[in-house]
Amino acid sequence: MITDILEIGEQPTLRGQVVVFGSGIAGAEVATHLARHGREVILVESGREQFDPSIQALNEVIFLGKRHRELDPDSYYHRYLPPELRGVSRVRQFGGTSNVWTGKWKYLQPLDFEGRPWVANSGWPIHFTDLLEHYRSTAKDYGFGDLEAEAVRPGIVDFRAKLAAGGLKISSFYWEQTPTRTAIRFGEEMRRSSNLHVVLGATATELRLDESCQRVTSVVCRSLEGRELIVEGEVVVLATGALEAARLLLASDRQLPGGIGNAHDLVGRFYTDHPKHHTGTLTPGALTRQYAHELQYAPKPRFCVCFTLDDATQQEQKLLEHVLYLKPIYEKPLDRLRRTLQFRPGCRDGNGTVASYQVKFVTEQVPHKGSRVKLGIDRDPLGQRKLEVDWCFTDHDQRSIAKPYNC
Ligand SMILES: Cc1cc2nc3c(=O)[nH]c(=O)nc-3n(C[C@H](O)[C@H](O)[C@H](O)COP(=O)(O)OP(=O)(O)OC[C@H]3O[C@@H](n4cnc5c(N)ncnc54)[C@H](O)[C@@H]3O)c2cc1C
Repeated sequence: MITDILEIGEQPTLRGQVVVFGSGIAGAEVATHLARHGREVILVESGREQFDPSIQALNEVIFLGKRHRELDPDSYYHRYLPPELRGVSRVRQFGGTSNVWTGKWKYLQPLDFEGRPWVANSGWPIHFTDLLEHYRSTAKDYGFGDLEAEAVRPGIVDFRAKLAAGGLKISSFYWEQTPTRTAIRFGEEMRRSSNLHVVLGATATELRLDESCQRVTSVVCRSLEGRELIVEGEVVVLATGALEAARLLLASDRQLPGGIGNAHDLVGRFYTDHPKHHTGTLTPGALTRQYAHELQYAPKPRFCVCFTLDDATQQEQKLLEHVLYLKPIYEKPLDRLRRTLQFRPGCRDGNGTVASYQVKFVTEQVPHKGSRVKLGIDRDPLGQRKLEVDWCFTDHDQRSIAKPYNC
């Protein structure tokens, strides 16, 4: 069932086995999955079915250092979105940021999980193999086929071997024809479900702990209209997005000074983005021509290939993980005439003749303790302290992009 906090009446407390906050990809997946397995689930979402600028304003942050990359509302990726969502990078609406995302799905790579001596603070306590089973079941649920099988199909294996000679490897992903919007994908199921209760318009403002301060027992939720609701659960899942999860943990400091889970002053730290740069144009040479069909950009959904320097080269050059995307620019009649007059062979992929590829560079960042979000002094309309974002772009980040490498 889906209700608005304003429809709940004078019932101040809701109880479920599991309470999930946030209805984006993470929250909607967890909540529906658990409900399908018989759990009593409450999903609390700050936004409503329609985009509301006054709720969206709860996401406002204060930039202390370098500002984020601005999303261009006129870009190819945003043109198909409703006008009010163009250029928005975190969405407070039923469905969360899935309302604007582009629908590109990719596995992290094994090296992403490992401690790399040349990348300070790198390494996770889990490994790629721990996630593989979940990647496979997600791929099945969302109908992506088998990414691993595609990565070893004959054309790709051959291409991979040729690239390896130059210290390059390929990295692949799926791009959905119609990007998943969780409110659409799960909305009807949520409406019909008897053991999943979605509450819209309710913003979690404080996590409350048991006496030992070991477990969250209840969460205070409020609406912009002044309604308050207490939600209790045996398990509480914060799927409010990386920034808002940190904000809620830090703001819940009544029982634990400094906030929940913050005994080591780590909540909100090591904040990274994935900087992007349109680096230039690649004119197809013989190898690219030969494998152009493997690089095809459309139709969606598609298996798409991008490049990165291989693990050994990254280690040798002390570089960060990155990818180079190639976006084909298809030949126009004048390009064709020019090419024909120069007796140059055409470069055909599955969709046409490629005149050139636009190259986009995307990189990870070094996990840097000083790059962080923290609570500021200014408050939002619910009286919650706004986040201050101090995003750092380190010398290592810069060096990794600027390093010349010939292959
Ligand atoms: C334009 C664009 C394109 C993108 N394209 C891709 C892509 O192709 N592939 C990819 O992998 N990633 C992409 N991303 C990133 C991706 O969309 C996000 O990483 C992902 O959607 C985050 O999902 P989430 O469930 O963690 O958070 P969100 O989707 O942000 O959901 C968080 C939810 O929590 C709610 N909420 C927040 N605070 C509270 C609170 N206190 N109480 C209750 N509810 C709260 C919010 O309203 C929201 O609904 C893109 C992002 C943008 C902006």
